[in-house]
Amino acid sequence: MTAAESYAELIRRAKDLGVLNSCAAVLGWDHQTYMPTKGGPLRGEQMAFLASLAHQKFTDPKVGELLSAVEASDLVSDPVSDSAANARELRRAYDRATKIPQSLVEELARVTTQAQQVWEQAKKKNDYASYRPLLEQIVKLKRDEADAVGYKDHRYNALIEEYEPGTSVADLKELFAGLTAELAPLVKKIVASPKQPDKSVLECEFPIDRQKVFAEAAAVAIGFDFNAGRLDTTAHPFCSGVGPGDCRITTRYNPRFFNEAFFGVLHETGHAMYEQNLPAEHFGTPLGVACSFGIHESQSRLWENQVGRGRPFWDHFFPRLKQTFHSLADVSKETFYFAINDVRPSLIRVEADEATYNLHIALRFELELALLSGDLATGDLPGAWNDRFETLFGLKVPNDVRGCLQDIHWSFGGIGYFPTYTLGNLYAAQLMDAVRREFGTGIEDDFRAGDFTRLKGWLNQNIHRHGQRYRAGELCRRATGMPLSPKPFVSYLSEKFGALYGVC
Ligand code: ZN
Repeated sequence: MTAAESYAELIRRAKDLGVLNSCAAVLGWDHQTYMPTKGGPLRGEQMAFLASLAHQKFTDPKVGELLSAVEASDLVSDPVSDSAANARELRRAYDRATKIPQSLVEELARVTTQAQQVWEQAKKKNDYASYRPLLEQIVKLKRDEADAVGYKDHRYNALIEEYEPGTSVADLKELFAGLTAELAPLVKKIVASPKQPDKSVLECEFPIDRQKVFAEAAAVAIGFDFNAGRLDTTAHPFCSGVGPGDCRITTRYNPRFFNEAFFGVLHETGHAMYEQNLPAEHFGTPLGVACSFGIHESQSRLWENQVGRGRPFWDHFFPRLKQTFHSLADVSKETFYFAINDVRPSLIRVEADEATYNLHIALRFELELALLSGDLATGDLPGAWNDRFETLFGLKVPNDVRGCLQDIHWSFGGIGYFPTYTLGNLYAAQLMDAVRREFGTGIEDDFRAGDFTRLKGWLNQNIHRHGQRYRAGELCRRATGMPLSPKPFVSYLSEKFGALYGVC
């Protein structure tokens, strides 16, 4: 077999797996949207069957042989060629899948399934003590996972590799230190400002059918293709990219609060537009897959915050909004704009504003790092959480439900996941900064006219079409001319909120 034939066979197998995984994605979407509850047990069997089939196919030793043959050839001599990029990312995934022993995979699946159920109950009853033994087991199993995969410097590096390949604890510590040093004083000034928004305008009658029509129109305006996607309703919103021509998003409607569904839809639409614009010809291979969790999150946050919470966007949409919702008849654009940009320290991450959000992540990053290294015992987690929270936010945490029990991530084993949210915010600001440098204020004139095609085209060109050809850091350098830095994000916040609150 020549190297070219090995590569062709490797790609054929990857594409087969792409089809198999897309079947699982449809079943997963159906599970969370329309499946009758009694279908649960069979669905569980179907999903487990497909997952084990995919695992079996991918970890076939033949895949390792094909990879080695490609890696030993000149097919990888140009590191950004199709073949080299595909081989690099398939190797990373193959090593992960084969180095973690089957017994550990099964133990993790068993413990995390149980942990999610126990967590839900613990959260209802404010009972951290009942959840603690499960968290203890998860931390131990994630240490074993890191040891099996191998790492440099810190076990956490092996875990973040799953979400953000190429990023390290050292990079993240530097980013968070810089960010926290800038954000904490900015938030203090905002809180102390006598100028404060009137949030009540967002908390009145917003009929759900009208919310749906309005949100769908906005999704279409920014570029969501409803012939290649759907929008449905679920308790926990998500975006599921099934494959070329099929990407599904969900939201939830609150009849007395505008932000929840609308900004949720913009967020998921940002994710979906990434999926809808990945190169279809590379489906199933790394070149047809999104770059990283952080870059994926940059797309959702760019549309939700950088665009959707900006003034030019509402110059276009506010008159339509007033026509749609009678409760806003006497509300001015300025009052509304200030209200959707309300900044205040709060206990819950998912309800946080743009300025305080990353402090929530900084806290989680510090604590999960300490848990993994053994510097923090699970029994001391609530106390450590509450102390650090008070330092960062100036708020006392009244109970663990609104403290260390609020997120599901650790229960599903997602240690190393949280930082990708902040990376997303930073990438989003840096991308938008590059867009402004390229198009000048013309881009805002576009938004005022309800035209988002130039921005979408820029993202297609600089982010979406590359799949995993570059790692996130390199993709950012190529798109913006600079390595990732907290600076564009910090200046964006200072300018926007400085003007709104009359501070800085
Ligand atoms: Zn997201």
